[in-house]
Amino acid sequence: MMIRMMNITNKFYDKIKSLFIDYYKIYKKEIKKMFKINENYLELQDSYLFSTIAKKVESYKLEHPDKEVIKMGIGDVTRPIPKAIADAMHKAVDEMQNANTFRGYGPEQGYDFLREKIAKFDYEDRNVKISPDEIFVSDGAKCDVANILDILGNKNKVAITDPVYPVYLDTNVMIGTAGKYNNEKGIYENVEYIPIKAENNFVPQLPKEDVDLIYFCLPNNPTGTVLSKDDLKKWVDYAKENNALILFDSAYERYITEENVPHSIYEIEGAKEVAIEFRSFSKTAGFTGMRCAYTVVPKELKCKTASGEDVFLNKLWNRRMCTKFNGVSYITQRAAEAVYSEEGQKQIKENINYYMENAKIIRESLNKAGYKTYGGFNSPYIWLKVPDGISSWEFFDKLLNEKQIVGTPGVGFGPSGEGYFRLTAFGTRENTIKAMERLGK
Ligand code: PLP
Repeated sequence: MMIRMMNITNKFYDKIKSLFIDYYKIYKKEIKKMFKINENYLELQDSYLFSTIAKKVESYKLEHPDKEVIKMGIGDVTRPIPKAIADAMHKAVDEMQNANTFRGYGPEQGYDFLREKIAKFDYEDRNVKISPDEIFVSDGAKCDVANILDILGNKNKVAITDPVYPVYLDTNVMIGTAGKYNNEKGIYENVEYIPIKAENNFVPQLPKEDVDLIYFCLPNNPTGTVLSKDDLKKWVDYAKENNALILFDSAYERYITEENVPHSIYEIEGAKEVAIEFRSFSKTAGFTGMRCAYTVVPKELKCKTASGEDVFLNKLWNRRMCTKFNGVSYITQRAAEAVYSEEGQKQIKENINYYMENAKIIRESLNKAGYKTYGGFNSPYIWLKVPDGISSWEFFDKLLNEKQIVGTPGVGFGPSGEGYFRLTAFGTRENTIKAMERLGK
C-alpha cells in the first residue's frame, strides 16, 4: 500500500515537474508553444497501401522505361460512362445554363428523384422496404464509411473481417479506437480481427470477445468471396443479442451472380434494427471519377446514451450531413438517376459483364498455370494463393520485375491476407489477355 502511494506521488511529482520545465522553456523562449494535432494519426502504418504500390511501380518504370507495365492492382474501372448516363448529364448541364431551370444548393441528403429510384429499384424490387428518407446520397462510400465514425464516436470495440478494404481499419486508427500497433503481430491491439481465409472457407466466425461495431464488405474486397443468407443471419442475430451495430459495405453488390447470396443486409430479417448499409455507383456504373454513392440508415436503428435515453441514428446522420455536407452536384445525381432507366440498366450490365468475362479469363488462366484462386464469381476480384515460401510483397516484386504485372499484396488488406494476392478484372480485355499470356509463360 505504502509503495503504491509512493509510486503515485512520484508520478504526480514527475508530471508537475515536466509541465513546469515546459512552461519555463516557453517563458524563456527556448521552445515555442505549438498547436496540437490528432496524434492517433501517428499510429497509422507506413503510407496507404496503394500509394506504396504506386511508388514501387513509378521507380520500376523509371529504371525500365522500355517495359510495358500492366496494372491489375487498384480497383478502378476502365470502361467509359454508358451513353444513357452521359445523355442525362448533358441534359442536366443544359438545365443549369437556363435561368428557369438552374439549380443552386440541393438538399444535403440528395434529391428526391434519386432517393425514390434507389428505394424502388435497389430495395423494393428485392422485396426490401426502405423509404427514401432512410437513404442519404453522398460523394462516395469511402467518405461515408469514414464519416460514420463522427456519429459513433471513439468508445466502441471494433471488429473487422480480415483481410478487407483498408479504410475501415485506418479510419478507426485515426479516431483512436484501434489502439497501439503491435509490430510483431502486425495488428492493432484493440481491434478484433476476424479471419476470412481458405481454412474457414472465407466464412467469418463470430467474435470471441464482445464487440460493438462489426465491419462487413460483401462481396468482399479483396477476397471476392460472399456469404450465404444463413451465414449472414448468424451475424445479424449476434448483433441483436449483443447490441452491436453492423456496418455493411456492399459496393460490389451488382457483381453477384449466384443465387442465395444477399445483395443487401436488409434481406435478412431484423437487420434494419442493427445495420447501416453503404452502396456506391463507382463500380456499379463507372462513377469512380464522377463520385456518387449512398448510405442507408434505417429509422428503426437506435442506440442508448449513457443516461439511458434512446437516440435514433437516422436523425443523427441527417444532422451530420446537413452540417458537414452540401450535397452531390445536381448533374451527378441526374446521371445516377439515369442508371435506373431501362437503357441505363442495360448499359451498366454490359460493362459489368465485360469485367466479369475478364474475371473468368484471369481465373481460368491462373488455374491453368497452377495457381489456386478464390473469388471472381460474384465480384471483379480474384484472390490467389501465392506459391509457398514467399510473402505477398515478395510475390508483388516478382510479378512486377519478371512479368511487369502489378497486383496487390494480400497482406496490405490485413494480416490474414499474407500468402495471398489480389488481381482485379477492371482492366481492358486486351491488357487482361496480355497479362495472362505473360503469366502462362
Ligand atoms: N467500399 C469498398 C469495399 C471499395 O472497394 C471501394 C473502392 O474501391 C469503396 C468502398 C469506395 O467507393 P467510392 O468510390 O464510392 O468512394
